[in-house]
Amino acid sequence: METIFGYMERYDYENVFLCQDRTVGLRAVIAIHDTTLGPATGGTRMWTYASELEAIEDALRLARGMTYKYAAAGVNLGGGKCVIIGDPRREKSEMLFRALGRFINRLGGIYLTGEDVGTTLREMEYMRMETPYVVTLPASWGGAGPIGPATAFGVVRGMKACAKAVYGADSLEGRRVTVQGLGAVGSEVIPLLVKDGARVVVADIDQEKVQAATERYRVESADPAVIAGLEADIFCPCALGGILNAETVPRLRVKIVCGSANNQLGDERDGDALAARNILYAPDYIVNAGGTIFDTDRLNPGGFNRERAMANVSRIFETMSSLVQISREEGIATYRAADLLAERRIEAVRKSKLLASRGEMPLGGDR
Ligand code: NAD
Repeated sequence: METIFGYMERYDYENVFLCQDRTVGLRAVIAIHDTTLGPATGGTRMWTYASELEAIEDALRLARGMTYKYAAAGVNLGGGKCVIIGDPRREKSEMLFRALGRFINRLGGIYLTGEDVGTTLREMEYMRMETPYVVTLPASWGGAGPIGPATAFGVVRGMKACAKAVYGADSLEGRRVTVQGLGAVGSEVIPLLVKDGARVVVADIDQEKVQAATERYRVESADPAVIAGLEADIFCPCALGGILNAETVPRLRVKIVCGSANNQLGDERDGDALAARNILYAPDYIVNAGGTIFDTDRLNPGGFNRERAMANVSRIFETMSSLVQISREEGIATYRAADLLAERRIEAVRKSKLLASRGEMPLGGDR
């Protein structure tokens, strides 16, 4: 990476906060990318970073990703992220998370946190003891509870939009769909696909999960080492990041890739390679936004409303359809169209806020 300020300038970051509390061994980084749409929101990750710089880079990169995710999903939140330097298996404590909660509280609401890799709802409860600025909470604490089912619903809505774009009909009836990873999301994707009449093939490195799925839903299973290369209509990656890379993309034998896994593209060239092979790639942060749309619904008037939350998750269909349109009209790959969609929304809100602040137009007047 260039210098930290250089990187912040290039991607227009607002702040980076370093939080230290030696009494509890806390070292954390909070990055705020953009608050045009609302408070910067994104989970707290705990990870054994090799260096302080690596932790700062990760917080910055993830915060920017959240800006795009919320903007494209039509959610009025900005992008932020917190990372704790530490081993989540050995170094978690109530006091560590309460100390972080106090730092977040001092930011006065410009950053809202939630769960991420290495943290659970339990640690969210600890932080909530010190600050109201925690979004992801168990239902008993006023939160939305588990988000996997909403993420799965959003993935299937995105998949139906892709089916419409490729086959002319949004039904998945008779389509062969390969699902990689049967965790919180993948296991919830299966019943939705089965209900819609799809022919599902599943794979996981955990054989118990495979057995549970095949027995419950009477779906086929495949070796996890080969699932990505199977001939099918749709590949649904719900396990690891980086699954679409120089080695796997040439081997794909599907028309659509649409799944929940984060950071599916090894790099941008893989997104272009998919487009060149005429495979419709549903950008991960567009179709996996269901959980976060569901989760942050509690910030809307009246608090969490399941019906409203799921209606908003369902709109992933429309978002995916409009980015297919942008991609076709402008001749660009879908991953780039997704970024454009997000950038245009932020720019429109920024402009309308500016005009409103000058008294030239009421807020939102040009949207
Ligand atoms: P999870 O940990 O519950 O499940 C992941 C599953 O993938 C596990 O069952 C694991 O055994 C399996 N797996 C790991 N390596 C595999 C391989 N090589 N082949 C086949 N299976 C393999 O995770 P999750 O919450 O279901 O999330 C899945 C993906 O979706 C992750 O990339 C996550 O970041 C992303 N995501 C999840 C949510 C959510 O609501 N949980 C929201 C947005 C994005």
